[in-house]
Amino acid sequence: MSVSKLIQASPTAAKNTSLGFYESFFQNRLLDLHKEGRYRVFADLERQVGRFPKAIFRDDSGTARDVTIWCSNDYLGMGHHPKVIAAMCDAAQAAGAGAGGTRNISGNTHYHLELEAELADLHGKDAALLFTSGYISNEAALSTIAKVLPACVIFSDELNHASMIQGIKGSGCEKYIFRHNDLAHLETLLASVERCRPKIVAFESVYSMDGDIAPIKEICDLAEKYGALTYLDEVHAVGMYGPRGAGVAERDGQMHRIDIVEGTLGKAFGVMGGYIASTRAIVDVVRSYASSFIFTTALPPALLAGSTASVRHLKASQVERDRHQERAATLKKMLQDAGLPVLLSASHIVPLMVGDARLCKKASDDLMQQHNIYVQPINYPTVPRGTERLRLTPTPHHTDADMKHLVDALCAVWAGLNLRRAATILKF
Ligand SMILES: *Cc1c(COP(=O)(O)O)cnc(C)c1O
Repeated sequence: MSVSKLIQASPTAAKNTSLGFYESFFQNRLLDLHKEGRYRVFADLERQVGRFPKAIFRDDSGTARDVTIWCSNDYLGMGHHPKVIAAMCDAAQAAGAGAGGTRNISGNTHYHLELEAELADLHGKDAALLFTSGYISNEAALSTIAKVLPACVIFSDELNHASMIQGIKGSGCEKYIFRHNDLAHLETLLASVERCRPKIVAFESVYSMDGDIAPIKEICDLAEKYGALTYLDEVHAVGMYGPRGAGVAERDGQMHRIDIVEGTLGKAFGVMGGYIASTRAIVDVVRSYASSFIFTTALPPALLAGSTASVRHLKASQVERDRHQERAATLKKMLQDAGLPVLLSASHIVPLMVGDARLCKKASDDLMQQHNIYVQPINYPTVPRGTERLRLTPTPHHTDADMKHLVDALCAVWAGLNLRRAATILKF
């Protein structure tokens, strides 16, 4: 497109020629997303304490109505737990709104130290370190740890989260991507690198889009054989797996073999923030060298107190975890019985395969508009093209009636859009 056409195409152009010129580039990039049917629209939701998974949804005209949320990462509903909310209110009343600085300059509070001790204990490690999100935890920890080790090589599962990929890129290290959960491929790659070089194997426990689980023991065996550190993202497992909610490594008796564990406070713990837990020296190196830890304001007291209450509660209470697993199994069975293309995952994540970006968006829109069911479409680049899906996350608070309503609605939408049914079921 010529410059003059670009300028004509933009209404802003008349007022400011150069901005108009640039604006059309941005508009065209957005148009690309619309054309592919994967332009992201955020739902205007208002969650209400005591009513989860019900929430108020406002449509484009601002009209409010009740919907049921089926895609929340507040997996156990801890974001509405009375103990968590009380702890947050108390901390804000007692210590104020913000932390008042970075951890280094006046923002380090007793609330930080208390939560870090709680998290180190949860994972059976010497120390833990908080970050403003799980994303920052991965980015900061992986980039820093790998950079500090001379000539380090990183082995990364191909389905690792964007935040781990960002951390690995940031380290500038040599890296090898192994096929998802493929032990033979990982071993081939490990064996191809000189024995004497430092190595890190970076992987997740529960993969968030397919809901499958890594062979943690076997990966640790390989790491041990080739002298590599193990870095495990347990973001979709903390709070939910293991007798104290430390994750799948705890459940599988492998926690002591994980050198660096990373988790979030924003999913099953229901609040916000991220962390790593590891040895004293590794945690201290990240604390001392990671830019995205050092040069940012510390988490505020209310979030920390709420997270501490949530972690403590789930360390001692198994009922949420039991009910969560039962609800997920029940939903998978109901979807399967209805002939819907559910991916029978080994975890609490219940993907329903669509395989087309536009149809996936349309199915999501129809569910919301016709059935008051909110489930966000999952499209590229979150998942590979051709594997677009609805990702259902049943919580302990979804009732049998909620599930029946969901399955009936899905059957109606599947029929209306003529979507593929059970022939596409895959097993993990
Ligand atoms: C969500 C997610 C993160 C990031 O955690 P936040 O606390 O939401 O920033 C990291 N890793 C994985 C696998 C995730 O799904």
